[in-house]
Amino acid sequence: MNELTAAELLAAQVQGASALEITAAFLRTIHERDGSLNAFLHVDDEFALAQARAVDAKRKHGDLLGILAGVPVAVKDILCVAGQKTTCGSKILRDFIPPYDAHVITRLKQADAILLGKTNMDEFAMGSSTENSGFTITRNPWDLERTPGGSSGGSAAAVAAGLAPLGIGTDTGGSIRQPAALCGIVGFKPTYGRVSRFGVIAFGSSLDQVGPLAHNVYDAALLLEAIAGHDARDSTSVDRPVPAYSRGLDQLVKPLTVGIPREFFSDGLDAEVENAVRVALAEYQSQGAVLKEISLPHSSFAVAVYYLVATAEASSNLARYDGVHFGHRAEKFADLLDMVARSRGEGFGAEVKRRVMLGTYALSSGYVDAYYLKALKVRRLIKDDFDTAFRQCDVIAGPTTPTAAFKLGEKTGDPLAMYLSDIYTIGANLAGLPGISVPCGFTKNGLPIGLQLMAAPFEEGKLLQVARMFERATDWHNRRPKVQAPG
Ligand code: GLN
Repeated sequence: MNELTAAELLAAQVQGASALEITAAFLRTIHERDGSLNAFLHVDDEFALAQARAVDAKRKHGDLLGILAGVPVAVKDILCVAGQKTTCGSKILRDFIPPYDAHVITRLKQADAILLGKTNMDEFAMGSSTENSGFTITRNPWDLERTPGGSSGGSAAAVAAGLAPLGIGTDTGGSIRQPAALCGIVGFKPTYGRVSRFGVIAFGSSLDQVGPLAHNVYDAALLLEAIAGHDARDSTSVDRPVPAYSRGLDQLVKPLTVGIPREFFSDGLDAEVENAVRVALAEYQSQGAVLKEISLPHSSFAVAVYYLVATAEASSNLARYDGVHFGHRAEKFADLLDMVARSRGEGFGAEVKRRVMLGTYALSSGYVDAYYLKALKVRRLIKDDFDTAFRQCDVIAGPTTPTAAFKLGEKTGDPLAMYLSDIYTIGANLAGLPGISVPCGFTKNGLPIGLQLMAAPFEEGKLLQVARMFERATDWHNRRPKVQAPG
């Protein structure tokens, strides 16, 4: 049961399987295997089983069922779920229980999906390995000594290991696509504004997007369909109809021009990753696509720009954790200022502190022109590069990450090396574009490799079709890791 895709689980229920037995099977797998992975921070068996019983009752009464009826979902702990602990991977929110649901959670409930629990993540989504979590380290199901990627590493590991058929992640600089690539699954970051951020704990508000993690493109399309759409509670949410992404997925995009940015195949790209991606590009060619070399001339500035914009926004967003409004408050303090300083000092981890300091510095008077405002100007140039590119091609293709999954601990001492794992994914966030990572091979050590595809804003439909063209011709997405229960 736990190896099935969302589509197969929907079909199984038409054949007589119950949402209750499906949910129970995934909960059992979590309890058996998650001791080896630590993908979940909180699992709510009672809540999930009650939801499953309600879906079965609806079906029995012949009520209309949502598009994810009886399909379990693992949700990154950055999304508020009413009445359930939501920590954002931070000790400062260790005991935070939101009084309301994020918009995406409301949509999942309306779709009759089953919420299994909340997954581990880098604290406030700051990181690329899930090692910055304030609670535990998540392991890669393909090799327990390696990272699942981050910051949505818990959701990605959960899907890859069969603990949940679907996962929800957020992507500010790559946090859906990078862990998807490192765990051998599909990860999709929608256009900025496509999915409401209401109830998503804010990191970089001009960059954050919620999106699906799944075994294949069809499941990702289905989950996107369930969560996308306008929500007046997020002023950046765009009021545009949501196409039925999962239908028409098998339509071939013809003619198809695939743009290949020359900047994505340079120093630092691992040879095995490059080789797998080039083979994937050749597959498109064999299906009649034209491969066209393009240039994104400002892409070498993307990481620097991102670490000014994202940290500036984070320093402002995280000001609310003051020991008064939200979360942890220090027990002993001298006065108000001391209380705020101690609460934050005790509650935040090292990476979050580093980012708050960086962002505050970049925004401070005397430096804001040289850093933050300069970064915004370069961000515009990066966006212009993409606009120019999409006049010459339908999609842009390249590697999702420069290497396959790295060892736990390998980059924790070197923030810059960690930041560079998002070198190919950050551009889509700065420009607000949709991007997807699909499995495209394995290293000789058996580690998954991801192919990244990006499209112009709101071209999710075409992007999914192009991704599906590759998936249909290959079977990388059908491989599953063998995860042992802890010994
Ligand atoms: N790894 C990047 C960072 O640390 C991106 C994180 C994300 O997308 N949430 O900021």
